[in-house]
Amino acid sequence: GVRRIPRVVGADVPVPLRDGGHVPYANFDYAASAPCLEAVHEAVTRALPYYSSVHRGAGYASQVTTGAYEEARETVRSFLGAWRRSAVVFTRNTTDSMNLLAQAVPAGTSVVVFETEHHASLLPWKRAVRLPAPATPAEAVSAADRALRSCPTGSRLLVVTAASNVTGELWPIEELARVAHRNGARIAVDAAQLVPHRPLDMTAHGLDYVAFSGHKLYAPFGSGVLAGRADWLRAAVPYLKGGGASASVGETTRWAASAEQRHEAGSPNVLGAIALAAACETLSACWSDLAVREEALVGRLRAGLAALPHVRELSLWGDRAPRVGIVSFTVDGWNARDVALTLSEEHGIGVRDGKFCAHPFVRHLVGGESAVRASLGIGTSEEHIDRLLTALAGLTRG
Ligand code: PMP
Repeated sequence: GVRRIPRVVGADVPVPLRDGGHVPYANFDYAASAPCLEAVHEAVTRALPYYSSVHRGAGYASQVTTGAYEEARETVRSFLGAWRRSAVVFTRNTTDSMNLLAQAVPAGTSVVVFETEHHASLLPWKRAVRLPAPATPAEAVSAADRALRSCPTGSRLLVVTAASNVTGELWPIEELARVAHRNGARIAVDAAQLVPHRPLDMTAHGLDYVAFSGHKLYAPFGSGVLAGRADWLRAAVPYLKGGGASASVGETTRWAASAEQRHEAGSPNVLGAIALAAACETLSACWSDLAVREEALVGRLRAGLAALPHVRELSLWGDRAPRVGIVSFTVDGWNARDVALTLSEEHGIGVRDGKFCAHPFVRHLVGGESAVRASLGIGTSEEHIDRLLTALAGLTRG
């Protein structure tokens, strides 16, 4: 059948090559930041004429803007399958969301986190038990179970990614949610790399908190989300103190009662929220088409890489583990930076090289080395894949 694939702004823009020529850009860096969807561009353009103050203004444009902002929140809520009464807080990005949650957990909360996490999910906790990279998904579940069971009494939180930003592998978040709850713990899921590729249903999967970033979801930089249970957030000292977070201020301050108001002090990023919500709506309308298309493209890429004897794909759980469109690899005889620069300057291909803000995980996979990451998205074509494979085939030793 005909697939409905949305379009991104600026796919195939011409980029210069070292030899003076130009080629259409082959963007393989979606996992870092994805280009905007055309629908996102249109939503922002539609909102701009009414762009005005939120929440406090009485003028018509203020009412329209406030309505659009709160509507964006509801769009995000249904995108995540979040419970009607849960909080949906707009933040700057996933890093901001995890830091907000870290600040909102009750004092003395025991946090358990895998060392395979992105630094955004690994570092914000005051004290956390770090679990080593598990050899299988089942081992992830049993290790989490053991660690949570031996936490001291009090609140407990398990933090885990839904899809790895290094290998693209999917983590068993439903099973992890079950063992968390069985041990009286909550689970916070870093969905930054999942939601650009696959739907998520917080209610069905039993997830207490979810964080993600707009700029990886085909919206511009500067908007993110923390969604989840409202109680800890409502009880916590505001993340930022100022206007909006306070209900009344005199000698003492009474903080706003709602989790959203309490943690969204200052004038919010309305256009960012509108853009993010437009991306949520667009993706929700075509998940299955996107998944089928991505599977085909990732399959083509991985089969091609497997046929290159000097290229080694990274994975924690092996070749067959389910994953999203993120593939990292090393090239024998080459350092990652030189691979990335050669791909860019000779082929117009944009990949990322380094340790992907997941140092312990990359160290576990390749020791002290860096790796190259090719991540796919809506604007990726077969031609891009084939260009990347041809370019990598041309990287001979020395
Ligand atoms: N978590 C994961 C899994 C990520 O891939 C990233 C971005 N690389 C982040 C968190 C942090 O996202 P942001 O930079 O938007 O805060």
